[in-house]
Amino acid sequence: MDVYGLIGNPVGHSLSPRMQEAGFAAIGQDARYVTFEPPTNGGVAAVEAAAHLGLRGLNVTIPFKEAVLAAVDVETDARRIGAVNTIDLSGDHPAGYNTDLEGAMRALRHHDVTVADRETVLVGAGGAARAIAFGLVDAGASLTIANRTVERAERLAEEFDDVRASDLESLPRLLSEASILINATSVGMESDESVVPREALHGDLVVMDAVYRPLETTLLREAAAVGATTIDGAWMLLFQGTAAFERWTGTEAPVEVMNTALRDAL
Ligand code: NAP
Repeated sequence: MDVYGLIGNPVGHSLSPRMQEAGFAAIGQDARYVTFEPPTNGGVAAVEAAAHLGLRGLNVTIPFKEAVLAAVDVETDARRIGAVNTIDLSGDHPAGYNTDLEGAMRALRHHDVTVADRETVLVGAGGAARAIAFGLVDAGASLTIANRTVERAERLAEEFDDVRASDLESLPRLLSEASILINATSVGMESDESVVPREALHGDLVVMDAVYRPLETTLLREAAAVGATTIDGAWMLLFQGTAAFERWTGTEAPVEVMNTALRDAL
């Protein structure tokens, strides 16, 4: 039996075991996906231990995404983003990837959203926002990054040509000219808050939320109410998971099956 795992602290009620094991079963692979909670300074040791024990692959979440860079051969996207969320342990040396970028962009593509040359507002400047920003810039979006701590937005924007940084107070003005809005803050997670004032939303927007608990955040509910197209956070979660699955197995992911398992788990 093949064993895969997730390292995080806390790992909490991760949805990945249900999603990944449904995928393995669908392609006839005898595999388990297990969650591990190493001590917060134990990311590198956990990767080394997993490799020694013969695990086939790992997902990596907070707080280990940066620390494990030291334990893997880092692929280009993960190097640029400065964080690893997927490790392939099948080779001679662990290989580190970042599938959050791919997850966000596949979520947009799945909903037929093209970003090239479109005014896009990304709210947040943490880990998720970083990955999404690289994906959006690669795809040619006209991007503004807005964040509560504006200096963080500025630092992230400076990594690109022609990306603007903003505070949250400017969101109404920015959104009046935008066609895509992505929330990559944790606002709305298990709360009914929204980082975007309701009055700033309009029907010509595509609104994607990285938050997936609850599935229908206040932001998405208010966006739907004004006729905007909404994409919930489970889509990004699904596609970062299917991208990891494909790295590990070399097989096209059974997207429908994994999506059903994920949404059942949610
Ligand atoms: P992070 O690195 O801790 O960043 C948190 C971000 O949220 C920062 O931009 C922070 O602003 C902002 N923020 C936090 N509280 C705020 C508040 N009260 N008002 C305004 N802004 C606030 O976290 P992360 O890893 O990027 O994760 C962000 C969210 O994305 C989480 O909910 C996570 O579950 C979700 N996520 C989803 C996926 C997916 O696949 N769907 C993948 C990764 C993450 P400051 O810089 O000002 O502190």
